[in-house]
Amino acid sequence: MSKKRILVTGGAGFLGTNLCRRLLDDGNHIISLDNYLSGLKRNVAIFEDHPDYEFIEHDIIDPIDLQIDEIYNLACAGSPPKYQADPIHTTKTNVYGVINMLELAKRNDAKIMQASTSEVYGDPEVHPQVESYHGNVNTHGIRSCYDEGKRCAESLCFDYMRRFGVKIKVARIFNTYGPYMDAEDGRVVSNFIVQAINGKSPTIYGDGSQTRSFCYVDNLIDAFVRLMASRDDFYGPVNTGNPGEFTVKELAEKVIDMTAANVEVTYHPLPQDDPTVRCPDITLAQKELGWTPDISLEKGLVKTIEYFKSIN
Ligand code: UDP
Repeated sequence: MSKKRILVTGGAGFLGTNLCRRLLDDGNHIISLDNYLSGLKRNVAIFEDHPDYEFIEHDIIDPIDLQIDEIYNLACAGSPPKYQADPIHTTKTNVYGVINMLELAKRNDAKIMQASTSEVYGDPEVHPQVESYHGNVNTHGIRSCYDEGKRCAESLCFDYMRRFGVKIKVARIFNTYGPYMDAEDGRVVSNFIVQAINGKSPTIYGDGSQTRSFCYVDNLIDAFVRLMASRDDFYGPVNTGNPGEFTVKELAEKVIDMTAANVEVTYHPLPQDDPTVRCPDITLAQKELGWTPDISLEKGLVKTIEYFKSIN
């Protein structure tokens, strides 16, 4: 069988870099595309000499024509400070950008996996979150460019499937961490680790009682590959996350402990619309993808701390 030509948008980002690595290891030809809004040139450089890796600097809000068999549409800043920096561009990425990728999938008769998010649940009133829960999103808050953008992206995927038969797969990604995260992107795991290894105090927003469920990136990437290979009439949306739930304060304490940092946490104001709880129900992923994340927070943090020390 000839190699699959796979497009990874957001290929220079955290998830994109880990996904490119996995797909190259599996023997595919990769076209990685990124506008470097939150992706890093350093991540692209890793694959520079790989004969099956091509990189195109491009923003998906502009159309592009390529010959491909599959698309993983990961393009969009995922960290709140990054996606809020240019909120209108964030919405365009999730509307114009997703239309462009769905049109590309349609022209190529290619499968497309859309990176959706746990943010579609907003500040959830159902806990843990099941895919059938429709969410509690503020339509005009500072997170809405991302939350509503990603909700609209899901809607576009399903309409392209119903109207044109585009082969869609929708993954709702929960908080993920691991190597190739940007040390500066402002997310909680990277912030705490980088702060602790530099002898600075981890910055807890609010009182630290809000919860998140953290999935190690290798487990998440495995879910993506399984989802792409799932039966044709399984579209999702499917939760992809680790159901282990921790408070932000617990995370800070773990990181301080594991880095043996001689620091105390500091408390800062909680950003607007910050969800109070978040935890995936992964029954559907277990049933349809045979997937259960098996890397514990401790194990994943060891690898992530090693990574940040190596680039510090
Ligand atoms: N957070 C924090 N300190 C930080 C960065 C984030 O306490 O330095 C909190 C943030 O307010 C949120 C949680 O950690 O409650 C997760 O934040 P992140 O930005 O990683 O992702 P989110 O789940 O909010 O999209």
